[in-house]
Amino acid sequence: MPKIYLDYASTTPVDPEVIAAMIPYFQGHFGNASSPHAYGRDAHQALEESRECLARLIGAQSREIIFTSGATEANNHALLGTARVHKDKGKHIIISAVEHHSVLEPAEYLRKNEGFEVTVVGVDQHGLVDPREIAGAIREDTVLVAVMCASNEIGTVQPITEIGAITQKHKVLFLVDAVQAVGHIPIDVNELKADLLSLSAHKFYGPKGIGALFIRGETDIAPFLLGGDQEGGRRASTQNVCGAVGLAKALEMCGQWMKREAVNQTKLRNRLLSEVPRLISGVKVNGHKTHRLPNNAHFAFEHIQGESLLMGLDQSGIAVSMGSACTAGAMEPSHVLRAIGLPDELAMGALRVTLGRWTTTEQIDYFLEQLPALVKNLRA
Ligand code: PMP
Repeated sequence: MPKIYLDYASTTPVDPEVIAAMIPYFQGHFGNASSPHAYGRDAHQALEESRECLARLIGAQSREIIFTSGATEANNHALLGTARVHKDKGKHIIISAVEHHSVLEPAEYLRKNEGFEVTVVGVDQHGLVDPREIAGAIREDTVLVAVMCASNEIGTVQPITEIGAITQKHKVLFLVDAVQAVGHIPIDVNELKADLLSLSAHKFYGPKGIGALFIRGETDIAPFLLGGDQEGGRRASTQNVCGAVGLAKALEMCGQWMKREAVNQTKLRNRLLSEVPRLISGVKVNGHKTHRLPNNAHFAFEHIQGESLLMGLDQSGIAVSMGSACTAGAMEPSHVLRAIGLPDELAMGALRVTLGRWTTTEQIDYFLEQLPALVKNLRA
């Protein structure tokens, strides 16, 4: 039986070239980047070179980057760290209805425990935020707006530049969760007008457990982890040098691959978007037609439990997802599918297929062969 991975939005394999770049930092150059001896200097140099590389690739300055354990930490830090520092200006934040849980939960925490008000801006049927709604929600006491760049579930890419122009005009901080976008579509913090931007290496062929938060210029932000003075006093803990090297290498490679990959993946993805509803009745395609990540296809099947579909495909050797890996196993329909107006019954039949660097035409052929019979069996 073939073994086919079509769940690249959950995580990606580490590119062999990335592994090769990381290996020296596990052994020969294993020093603590804060140590004053030669081992420490080697590690420090690699860390700073990785920071410069990442900064250059997203249009930032290296002093505007802190390395984190992933995007969950970066998003938590961005929300809690800025809201708390700016609470004297106001205690109102705005988020979109389709944010990842790593944004939703800290926002909810601030609301419940620290007296903040949170306005949740909805989306249209394709998952798009209307920048005018953001403008309408901004108040005197608004300190932060958070809108993700691209949906991890339905792949919709938001009008971030337009939203950034609005937050800039109103002098409100703007957090962009760019986890699903970085490495897949061009990202420039200045073009997006982001004040804060989060990313995670394992979504673009780097290792797990390393991410970064971009913090523009002099933006005031409270440190998140307290302890040593690493990362300019903004994040204590011995730095993950191997991870940082891997992150930078992975992103550098994405720059070289991006155009070619986008063309290949869009072609295969479009085939899925047109063939699945042609082969199977009672299917809805979710997400925006054009404002969409190149590698994302998302469907909702009538009269099907997404989990059964997932397990059935797994038995045929195909790995897919219902949506976000973080809510897999939960019996609640996804908040994103509710936000685009899908009835719960349909939302429970969700299927996300995400492609990547090593997806082939043959794999998509096999998927399209297996899916109709499986859906038929499950419906029977
Ligand atoms: N934001 C988005 C949009 C994501 O897809 C994810 C990962 N599923 C995260 C944040 C969290 O990233 P990590 O698990 O690497 O901390």
